Amino acid sequence: MIPQSALPEFRASLRGQLLFPGEAAYEEARKIHNAMIDRHPATIVRCAGVADVIAAVKFARIHGILTSIRGTGHNVAGISLCDDGMVIDLSAMKGIHVDPVKRTARVEPGVTWAEVNHDLQAFGLAATGGFVGTTGVGGLTLGGGLGWMVRKHGCALDNLLCADVVTAEGELLRASATENPDLFWGIRGGGGNFGIVTSFKFQVHPAGKVLAGFVLHPLSKGREAMRFWRKYEAAVPEEMSNNVIVFTAPAELPVPDGLQPGAIVALGGVWVGPLEDGERALRPLREYGPPAADTYQTMPYSAAQTMADFLWPKGLYSYWKSSFLKSLSDGAMDTILDFYTRTPSPRTVVVVEHDGDSAWSRVPEDATAFGHRNWPYNLVVTTNWTDPKDSEANIRWTRKFWEAMKPFLAEAAYVNYLGEVDEEGIRAAYGKKYERLAALKEKYDPTNFFCTNQNIRPSGSARTAAAD
Ligand SMILES: Cc1cc2nc3c(=O)[nH]c(=O)nc-3n(C[C@H](O)[C@H](O)[C@H](O)COP(=O)(O)OP(=O)(O)OC[C@H]3O[C@@H](n4cnc5c(N)ncnc54)[C@H](O)[C@@H]3O)c2cc1C
Repeated sequence: MIPQSALPEFRASLRGQLLFPGEAAYEEARKIHNAMIDRHPATIVRCAGVADVIAAVKFARIHGILTSIRGTGHNVAGISLCDDGMVIDLSAMKGIHVDPVKRTARVEPGVTWAEVNHDLQAFGLAATGGFVGTTGVGGLTLGGGLGWMVRKHGCALDNLLCADVVTAEGELLRASATENPDLFWGIRGGGGNFGIVTSFKFQVHPAGKVLAGFVLHPLSKGREAMRFWRKYEAAVPEEMSNNVIVFTAPAELPVPDGLQPGAIVALGGVWVGPLEDGERALRPLREYGPPAADTYQTMPYSAAQTMADFLWPKGLYSYWKSSFLKSLSDGAMDTILDFYTRTPSPRTVVVVEHDGDSAWSRVPEDATAFGHRNWPYNLVVTTNWTDPKDSEANIRWTRKFWEAMKPFLAEAAYVNYLGEVDEEGIRAAYGKKYERLAALKEKYDPTNFFCTNQNIRPSGSARTAAAD
């Protein structure tokens, strides 16, 4: 419970806002990307800067208040919100500072990747970000960060140079290769378990114009198209980051010329490199079939990074499943396509990401808390629907689909794509690294203050639980 008598002094200590149930701003702030998540925090601290974050952490600790951290509220499992506790909301912290000479960007945690890349584009630079622009820099980077330059420049966290972290004690620490390197290791994959990052500094890259788009095949030709893509994709240079996206064109959007409305298998992504080389590398993909439509164009990276945003607008009801694949076998492809023909919702999107041998897999496995860089394909079933009365049917379909995929899945998951908070998923995400992370948690957050997340329990508490 939040002691009412302590609130005036706490409120006076903030530059940002303290929001309570019944206020319009509170209702807005508790709405996140996934409409399935309907939580009612006791209060939301909309922080204006690092001093507010420190004040909120200290206040919550003194009064023993359950706390969650909200960046842009994209996490599909809804970990940014808690019931009855305090949400430390970073979404108003939107500073971006670009250093075009050193090719770095310092970014606050309320910023989205579309915003970062908008500012970088003015200098012909880009940060990999995610495959959509609306995701937040914070959660995406701290969990991994797979995006359209993953094969050329690695994950978002591989490009993190340093971070300012407010610890569970309310202290501000710098984490980098030379300052608190153990913390720097842990925040690159360990999510929000070790503290609240109030500033990220990234290495960014030249990316004036890129070649980006998709070739679109009707689902009926998906079998052959995916088999072609698997062979093609295995040999493309790492300038190309490509995915398979199975989706149904939303009714409100014009269907590209040549394509009938209905389910689509889209193959493609972004080429970051000399454009003539990209044209050459893309030719087999663009000629195969031929496709019913081809949306490839030269565009700024900032446009490429947002080209798939329309598939995941805010406010859909969502339930996700995800795992790395052992391989993209014929059986795996056929199961994906077969299940998609029976999806209860046309808003559902299934993605097979190909990372393969590339910049991301050359990073040594133990260099960061993020791992599983040996698996070339990542499967993400993003089941989305618009009407809450369809929730049961969509969740049932997703679980059946997942059961059928089991023979093809590696025991390895990407923490940011977990659709629920579950121990099995956390273990699949961290594997053998879990023990090292638990020891680090014991050092930086022994009371598990940061617990409303994909939680790594402090090693001390694990020992206590075992003894009980
Ligand atoms: C439509 C959609 C598309 C996506 N696409 C991609 C993609 O292409 N690539 C990819 O890698 N992931 C993708 N994701 C997953 C995404 O990485 C995670 O959902 C991530 O958690 C989003 O970050 P956020 O800050 O917006 O999340 P929030 O929901 O605001 O936060 C989630 C959690 O992250 C932690 N966190 C966030 N910010 C901080 C901070 N500053 N300090 C400490 N902890 C923090 C906290 O534990 C917080 O509760 C996608 C998700 C969605 C819904």
